[in-house]
Amino acid sequence: MTTVSSASPGLSGDGRSKNRLYGPLPDVQEEAGYDSDHPARVGFFTDTSVCIGCKACEVACKEWNLLPMDDAHGTRDVIGLSGMSYDNTGQLGANSWRHVAFIEQSRSVDLPMPSFPPAPDATSRQDAGNAPDDTAPGDSVTSAMTSVLNAESLSQFDPQTGHSGDREIRWLMSSDVCKHCTHAGCLDVCPTGALFRTEFGTVVVQQDICNGCGYCVPACPYGVIDQRKGDGRVFKCTLCYDRTLDGLQPACATACPTQSIQFGNLDELQARADARLATLKSQGVQTARLYGRDEDDGVGGAGAFFLLLDEPEVYGLPPDPVVTTRDLPAMWKSAGAAAAMIVGVALSAVLGSRRS
Ligand code: SF4
Ligand code: SF4
Ligand code: SF4
Repeated sequence: MTTVSSASPGLSGDGRSKNRLYGPLPDVQEEAGYDSDHPARVGFFTDTSVCIGCKACEVACKEWNLLPMDDAHGTRDVIGLSGMSYDNTGQLGANSWRHVAFIEQSRSVDLPMPSFPPAPDATSRQDAGNAPDDTAPGDSVTSAMTSVLNAESLSQFDPQTGHSGDREIRWLMSSDVCKHCTHAGCLDVCPTGALFRTEFGTVVVQQDICNGCGYCVPACPYGVIDQRKGDGRVFKCTLCYDRTLDGLQPACATACPTQSIQFGNLDELQARADARLATLKSQGVQTARLYGRDEDDGVGGAGAFFLLLDEPEVYGLPPDPVVTTRDLPAMWKSAGAAAAMIVGVALSAVLGSRRS
C-alpha cells in the first residue's frame, strides 16, 4: 500500500531522501511516498510581461473557491475599494489566493526611435552604466534603444539629443500566488498533516484537519499562507486541486485573457519560460529574469514561478527565499552540544563538591 507523508522529503524519514531539506529534488511526489507512476508535476509559469492587470484571475479564484471579501488588511469601503490604489487587494491572504500587484514606477520613458549605433567613446561607456557586465557597452546601448522597458538606460544615453526624455509613469503588474515550493516550510512544520503534497506535486491544506495552530504561517518564506480572521484555520491557493483531479485547468489560468498565467507540466513550463526569456533578452529587455525557476535556490525551485521585468523586491518578493527548515539539523546539533555541555558542567560541579 502506498503511504503518503505529509512532511517534506527531508523530514519524512525516507531513506532515499538522505535527509535533504533543501536543494534540487528531481521527483517530489515519489519522495513524498507516491508510486513512481504518479502524474507529472504541474505548476504555473506567470509571465508578468503580458499581464494587463485586469484581475480576472483574482475574481475567478474568488468565485471558484467561494472566498469572502478580504477585509483583513487595511481599510476598505463597502465595495472593497482601498481608495489608495488600483490594487485593492494589497497582498495575498486567507481570502485572497491570487493577488495582482500594481507597481507604479516613475522613470524616464522614451519611444524607441530609429537611430544609429553609438560610437563606443568614453562618454558613452560612462553613460551606459546600467549595462550588464557580460555585454560590450555598445551592444547593450543598442539593444536598450529598442525597448521602452529599458527606458532608463535609453534615456541616459541618447546619441541624438545627448539628454534624457521626460519622466513618466510605467506600471508593472504581476499576479502573485503560492509558490508550491519543492521544499515547503509550511508543510514541514505542520503538526497535524493538514498540509500535504498532492500526487501532482502541489501543496494543499485540508481545512477539515487544520487545527489553527498557525505554525505554518511564519514558516513560509514568502508570507503566503494566512489564518482567516474569526476562523483561525489557514488558507491558501490549492492550485485548484479539485479541478486538476478532473483534468481541468485552474480557474485563474482559465480566466486570464493574455496567457500571463500558464498552467501545465512543470518541465514544459520551464522550457517555455526559458525560451520566452531568451526572446525578451534578444529584444533588448535586459532587466527580464526568471524568479523561482532555479532548482538550486533556497526552496529547491518553485512549482509556481515567474518572469519578472525588475528586481523581485520591486514586486514585494523576497530576493533570496530560503526554506525555513533548512538549518534545523544544524540547530538541533548545536542545541544538543549545548545541553551536553550543561550536563557536563553540572556533573563536574556535583562530583567536585563531594570530593571537597
Ligand atoms: S509558498 Fe509558502 S505556503 Fe506556498 S508552498 Fe511554499 S512555503 Fe508553503
Ligand atoms: S490555482 Fe485555483 S486556488 Fe490557486 S490561485 Fe488559481 S484559482 Fe485560486
Ligand atoms: S494575470 Fe491575467 S487575468 Fe490576472 S491580471 Fe494579469 S492579465 Fe489579468
